[in-house]
Amino acid sequence: MTIQKKRLGDILIDCDLITAEQLQQALSYQREKNLKLGAALIDQGLVTEDDIIWALGKQLNISFIHLNANIVEPAVVKLIPAEYAKEYRMIPLYQSGNQLSICMVDPLESEAIENLGAKTQLSISVSICTRYDFEQTYAAIYGPLEGQEKVEGDMAPADKQTMERGIPKGMESPDKVINYIIGQAIINKVDRIHFEPSEKGVLIRFRTCSSLTKKLEIPLKIHQEVISKLKIFSQISAAPRTSPGMSVGHFKVTVSGRWINLQSMFYPTVHGEMVILKINDFSNLGSQILKSSKSFLDQIAGNVKKNYGVLYITGPRESGRTTTHYHILNSFNLERTKIVAIEDPVQCTLSNITQIQVGQNGVGSIKEGLDLALLLDADVIYLDHLGDLPIVEDISFAGLGGKTVLTSFMAYDAPSSITRLLGFVQDPVVVATSLCGFLSQRLVRTLCSQCKSPAQFPPEFAERVAAVGEKPVCFTATGCEGCQLTGYSGRALINEFIPNSSTLRQMMISRQNYQQFYQFARKQEIPTLEDKALRLLSSGETSVDEFLRLFP
Ligand SMILES: [Zn+2]
Repeated sequence: MTIQKKRLGDILIDCDLITAEQLQQALSYQREKNLKLGAALIDQGLVTEDDIIWALGKQLNISFIHLNANIVEPAVVKLIPAEYAKEYRMIPLYQSGNQLSICMVDPLESEAIENLGAKTQLSISVSICTRYDFEQTYAAIYGPLEGQEKVEGDMAPADKQTMERGIPKGMESPDKVINYIIGQAIINKVDRIHFEPSEKGVLIRFRTCSSLTKKLEIPLKIHQEVISKLKIFSQISAAPRTSPGMSVGHFKVTVSGRWINLQSMFYPTVHGEMVILKINDFSNLGSQILKSSKSFLDQIAGNVKKNYGVLYITGPRESGRTTTHYHILNSFNLERTKIVAIEDPVQCTLSNITQIQVGQNGVGSIKEGLDLALLLDADVIYLDHLGDLPIVEDISFAGLGGKTVLTSFMAYDAPSSITRLLGFVQDPVVVATSLCGFLSQRLVRTLCSQCKSPAQFPPEFAERVAAVGEKPVCFTATGCEGCQLTGYSGRALINEFIPNSSTLRQMMISRQNYQQFYQFARKQEIPTLEDKALRLLSSGETSVDEFLRLFP
């Protein structure tokens, strides 16, 4: 890709993010302080780094990526010397034929790109990343950047203010508002966007894991138009809802060249319709999860392929169950396996998998979906959340018939999943003999490595962490620009897996109790979810607060 020789100031004006006067003001500040223009604009609180990324992506069609060291091909690191990478804030990603893909904080440095092309004799394709992701990745592949540890302290008050503000000038039309909000949410790796109307305006809040932050406010006068647009995207009738009940739909957006699925939920409130957009950026969550437990999940996938039967994945809401399901489904040979997924609703479109929605022109219930999947000659059946545990016996019969079934329901841990399930069945023999295993899981927020600060374990933790780690270290959340002041970046997946065995089958058939299943798992040396979270705590990857949020 050749980057057009366009100046950042002009791009930001074209996107209505700043005015010509503001650009002049920033240019004189830039000269005075000897800064790059982007830094000067951010310093003065005129734009945020996200605004710049959004504008570059939109105007120059440069794709934005969540850069991390895992996506860098080791063989290409030598193509960009450390000094050059530092000076022009660029990271090599991978080479395909005579094309080298790189990622830059400032892709308008066209001379640096041309020089790299001349030196390597390769054509260069550029994507954009945040300064924070660049610094983290640089440190991981080339070694620490000078002064990297003081980034958090350098955060100007203006930056903190600009994280929460109104829609930029000139972007008041519904289309631009929607584009801007969704773009910002994806750049910030947000899970959900809340549009909450009140008497004064519509509050836009972003949720990442358990923390909710106010992002901006939009005027009430465009709210109805924003809702109508979102409903059209979601293929839901655009008339305002008057009857109670939630409407659910989904749509896809491209953000800087990347397709992302969104699930939309509309609900009437006294001040107008509230909307929640759930961002299913599985590539983002998937890469975080895979980093922490790829080998474990591959092992489970291997077990599923070998044993057939039913795998129950349990945990509370937001425990990454769908992502685990998708990872296991994708591990099958998709050309030689017929996979039918019955979802409520479909969260992400998958290739080579037959996906059928419950409700809205799909099947009427999960049970109908199961019958249909059997008629459709499926080898592997994925049934989304089982609100309806009474159909467990039907699912078990499918497992006994040689099908592989993946499904999930809510339960605290693996032993309680077994007792919960047994509470719903007349005949435990069918369930026990068609079983692949019980996998229980949680998502643990991991501390932002840029700003976490050393702390002391509270006395009641000292003994517990000493039992799991050799030299326990305690860190606490602080908050910096890179982590949107939350103190956390990324998530780790922890799991407890009880596989099928003859002893387990016997215990299920004789309907043993929770304590007996719990003891059985400990005898097998299967670590509990709490044990795994303690390990993350003792190695300083998560905080005491996060541990207590999950295991109070
Ligand atoms: Zn941070």
